[in-house]
Amino acid sequence: MTTPPLILWFRRDLRLDDLPMLSAALATGRPLIPVFVLDPETEALGAAAKWRLGLGVAEFARRLEAAGSRLVLRRGAAAAVLLALVEETGAAGVMWSRLYDPAAKARDTGVKSALRARGLLGESHAGHLLHEPWTVATGQGGFYRVYTPYWRTVRGMDVPAPVPAPERLPAPARWPVSERLEDWRMGAAMRRGAAVVAAHVRVGEAAARVRLAEFLSGPVEGYDSARDLPAVAGTSRLSENLTYGEIGIRRVWHAAMAAFHRGAAGAETFLKELVWREFAYHLLHHSPHIAERNWKPEWDAFPWQGDGPQAEAWRRGMTGEPFVDAAMREMYVTGTMHNRGRMIVASYLTKHLMTHWKIGLDWFADCLVDWDPAANAMGWQWAAGSGPDAAPYFRIFNPATQVEKFDPKGAYRRRFIAEGQRAAGAEARAFFEAVPLSWRLDPARPYPARIVDLAEGRARALAAYAGRGGVA
Ligand code: FAD
Repeated sequence: MTTPPLILWFRRDLRLDDLPMLSAALATGRPLIPVFVLDPETEALGAAAKWRLGLGVAEFARRLEAAGSRLVLRRGAAAAVLLALVEETGAAGVMWSRLYDPAAKARDTGVKSALRARGLLGESHAGHLLHEPWTVATGQGGFYRVYTPYWRTVRGMDVPAPVPAPERLPAPARWPVSERLEDWRMGAAMRRGAAVVAAHVRVGEAAARVRLAEFLSGPVEGYDSARDLPAVAGTSRLSENLTYGEIGIRRVWHAAMAAFHRGAAGAETFLKELVWREFAYHLLHHSPHIAERNWKPEWDAFPWQGDGPQAEAWRRGMTGEPFVDAAMREMYVTGTMHNRGRMIVASYLTKHLMTHWKIGLDWFADCLVDWDPAANAMGWQWAAGSGPDAAPYFRIFNPATQVEKFDPKGAYRRRFIAEGQRAAGAEARAFFEAVPLSWRLDPARPYPARIVDLAEGRARALAAYAGRGGVA
């Protein structure tokens, strides 16, 4: 008699290194069947995230093959697909790594009860975070709403050492058939933009490990100041890989801790940033409405503008505000945006244009290859003033003074804004190749005039805020 196999359901954990679910599965001694399911929740991803996930899945399938295994692809509602696979393969059950956004939690709870109701194994494991959100609590036993005390608690908590990838995965006697990834057309919504963004992504476990090593062997030293300069490659760029689990956060944490202990300047700030990611998940788990509604309900009555020509100019990088436009174009061309840019464009949209943060959040979700449900929601509500531990609404970034401070020589603007340059660089020109033809953009035209005067926009936002009695 052959041992019944176990199904490993991969989602945002496309790696073999440091994966608790895999360690647990290997300990059972069973043959393993890795599976990826294109379910409605995954279908609903934004264009860039879905396209990038497709690249990650393809690379992970190659990784598994090199380890004597395969990645079985199936499409449909997760519970139905997994139950059918269990039946087909005689598997003992399914294991997966936990996710924390409301849609994933609802789906996974359904899968777990469907499996268990049939007497099968349905087991979820940690793997996406340093600490499960419910394991970090305030002195009163509640959840943290403010980052600094959260950081103080988390910095000293024990993080298990990462477990290296196994050389090989035990294969089943017979493999179930797999669908073809090409048939899923995961890049369909990227239109012509995919070819442009492809030059900027670094996909898979090996690429992520190289990124980490590169960062910790040099840029970490200058991270404290360079991380604020969008023209400088001063950050790790690991968000793209962390979001698909191509590198484990525990591995990143331990490597950064080692850098800290050897005295690398900037290592502690980098550890703090990793904890911002944790904090975002802590908030998302404990107050899931952060992704959908004003975290502070007092903001529900604020007179946000809806979608319209100004929001559209913002999306298209055509506001006439150079820092804003450079950042919006950076996102369109590279699939990511520097953190300073994210803060500036989010502040500009929600304050100078007084547009609802949800409109910005949705556009980020469509354009970012590093889209993350927790970090994006926290970032937008922080910028708008409606979130926990948010920037006060009356503190309005001035994009013109920000540009003097953080892009003093104009390198970032030149890199992404072609208009007005005699010999614009490849990335500035690539924006015009990537955007839909229907936008009718032309680099030969003059750079647009400001859609909003900064002083007027600021005054309007402050008046609205004061009119509501300073809602925050
Ligand atoms: P590094 O500076 O090298 O930092 C290392 C890691 O720490 C990052 O990869 C990320 O995982 C984490 N981190 C750093 N800053 C933050 C932060 N402010 N919040 C949460 N985690 C952080 N990050 C995403 O990963 N996905 C998003 O969809 C996203 N949307 C954002 C939206 C807004 C409006 C704002 C203001 C920020 C958003 N961020 C998001 C956070 C941050 O901008 C990115 O994580 C960062 O720019 C990624 O670049 P990096 O990997 O080089 O970061």
